[in-house]
Amino acid sequence: MKPFEFFSPATLPEAARALADYQGEARALAGGTDLLIRMKRRQWTPRAVVSLNRLAGLNEIALNGELKLGARATLNQIIRSAAIREYFPALAHTARGMAGVQVRSLATVGGNLCNAAPSADMAPPLIALNARAVIVGVDGERVVPLDEFFVGPGKSVLQPGEILQTLLVPRPKENAFASYHKLEHRAAMDIAMVGVGVSLNVERSTFNVQHCADVRIVLGAVAPTPWRAKRAEEILRGNELTAERIAEAARVAAAEAKPIDDVRSSAWYRREMVEVLTRRQLQRLAETA
Ligand SMILES: Cc1cc2nc3c(=O)[nH]c(=O)nc-3n(C[C@H](O)[C@H](O)[C@H](O)COP(=O)(O)OP(=O)(O)OC[C@H]3O[C@@H](n4cnc5c(N)ncnc54)[C@H](O)[C@@H]3O)c2cc1C
Repeated sequence: MKPFEFFSPATLPEAARALADYQGEARALAGGTDLLIRMKRRQWTPRAVVSLNRLAGLNEIALNGELKLGARATLNQIIRSAAIREYFPALAHTARGMAGVQVRSLATVGGNLCNAAPSADMAPPLIALNARAVIVGVDGERVVPLDEFFVGPGKSVLQPGEILQTLLVPRPKENAFASYHKLEHRAAMDIAMVGVGVSLNVERSTFNVQHCADVRIVLGAVAPTPWRAKRAEEILRGNELTAERIAEAARVAAAEAKPIDDVRSSAWYRREMVEVLTRRQLQRLAETA
């Protein structure tokens, strides 16, 4: 590892200032489960590391009108949170499927998003749940819809000196359900080959027919960023939820994916699996509703 300056500020403005002073050559440190590995391999050689660990409130999880999920909340905190388990079970389920218990006690939701890997598991369910990112920098605060947060592999909208502070997630409406499913080579400690997050809000007409009031379908690991399959969503939104329409939406989601061949999977297999995971989850959520 190359030598670097280390800062452990007590307030967010100080942390933002410390990061900004290094003009893109400093990195924030949350759990370190991505950062330290890359620094040891010398893939990243920041001149400074700014720890977020003393910043009060950054790891809080609170539910009022909406969920406030602090960026430094660990995956284990998410799994244990009663509010998340009750109102956002897809988030607890996703966190439980990531890494192993030791890594989960350090790894944070903010680190997972800011690392901006196309396979980041927390991104599809959070985007499906319509989350917004609260970002704090030296010039103040801005709020960005999470589906506009990712720019490319390893790149987000964060500018030098900006810190992801909180995720705001609206409380799901009655009859709205969400899920995330990923395919991996083994059942633990593996990165997704494909991940699909879905949220579905169902209404019943007077004849007890199920209609899709709203839907979000978010694909992971099959495009340079987590990717919303918007054409597939359009097929369902406002329409009756039939098995045929769900199957068509799943086919269109697969067509919208932009997968690549790599060590984990072929592009062909990834596309096939997008269709399967999308169809199964839509069917399951419609049945639950
Ligand atoms: C064995 C192992 C298994 C893993 N399994 C999975 C898995 O199943 N699924 C998965 O998606 N990932 C997995 N990961 C990757 C990693 O654990 C997660 O991405 C984790 O959530 C990263 O969080 P962190 O707090 O450790 O981030 P860090 O390593 O601290 O930071 C990651 C990046 O984000 C930046 N950053 C962190 N927090 C902020 C913030 N609040 N504001 C601005 N920038 C910030 C850092 O500067 C750094 O560039 C695994 C890693 C390991 C080592």
